[in-house]
Amino acid sequence: MNADLHCHSCHSDGVLSPAALAARAAANGVELWSLTDHDNLGGLDEAREQARALGMRFIDGVEISVTWHGTTIHVVGLGIDPRHAPLEQGLASVRSGRDERALRMADALEALGVRDAYANAMRHAGNPSLVGRSHFARVLVEQGYAPDVHAVFRDYLVRGRPGYIEHQWTALEQAVAWIRGAGGVAVVAHPGRYRISGDQLLRLLGDFRDAGGQAIEVVSGSHGEAEVRHFARLARDFGFYASRASDFHAPDESPIDLGRGAHLPAGVEPVWHAPELGSRAACPA
Ligand code: AMP
Ligand code: MN
Ligand code: MN
Ligand code: MN
Repeated sequence: MNADLHCHSCHSDGVLSPAALAARAAANGVELWSLTDHDNLGGLDEAREQARALGMRFIDGVEISVTWHGTTIHVVGLGIDPRHAPLEQGLASVRSGRDERALRMADALEALGVRDAYANAMRHAGNPSLVGRSHFARVLVEQGYAPDVHAVFRDYLVRGRPGYIEHQWTALEQAVAWIRGAGGVAVVAHPGRYRISGDQLLRLLGDFRDAGGQAIEVVSGSHGEAEVRHFARLARDFGFYASRASDFHAPDESPIDLGRGAHLPAGVEPVWHAPELGSRAACPA
């Protein structure tokens, strides 16, 4: 099964439209696809419609920004009902702080010499309510501050670097409750990306399971082979389903294209076997 259950469109910080992503996924052989934009559901109707037209099975998804003990964590929701009002309202509350954060980020970057940082980031933001670090990263690349967005993040946009602005997202338990309330499965996104210790990661996964979380990304565009093996083992230890995810954002930026990651290792239970996703995954959309 070629499943890709995490990627981004221009409704958050990806660069392609949902329709263009659907076409790219289908061309790459994806059979089961989910669009998981950050903190909003605006691309799902177009993605679902295009997936159907291309004969791909589709799962409604979202990636929610969470703050857990001071660290930003991303929780993907798969198989959510996009019309579930508490989820929609919750996501609106998560989005509400982004503009002020962007203004503060722009001030910090302009102090380093970046020109018109806010206006230029907004030019990249297909959805102004979702303006974020990726849009600023593209501005810094354009203005020659770094060769690519990856270097921009490393040198400017992570904690301890001059363009980083602390931000409080929603609580882990809250994000999981919105996802479960909307009928979905909650998945810890790219566990290899968090700069926390091994013990802290075990605590995170324990808190997540206690809150009703059921899955982790084992294969992710952020994971190397050793991490895939490590997170497969943790999925088994915690009784989590395993997800497979490119986290594709843009052709020139993302390490893995849609549907092109490793397959899940043997011995884990794919998240598309979860009963919450069963009906959607079993019948052509
Ligand atoms: P934000 O939600 O505004 O904090 O932006 C988070 C987004 O920044 C993530 O979803 C990624 O798309 C991007 N990002 C974070 N870290 C990196 C990195 N090291 N390299 C490239 N993109 C990154
Ligand atoms: Mn992103
Ligand atoms: Mn993420
Ligand atoms: Mn993502």
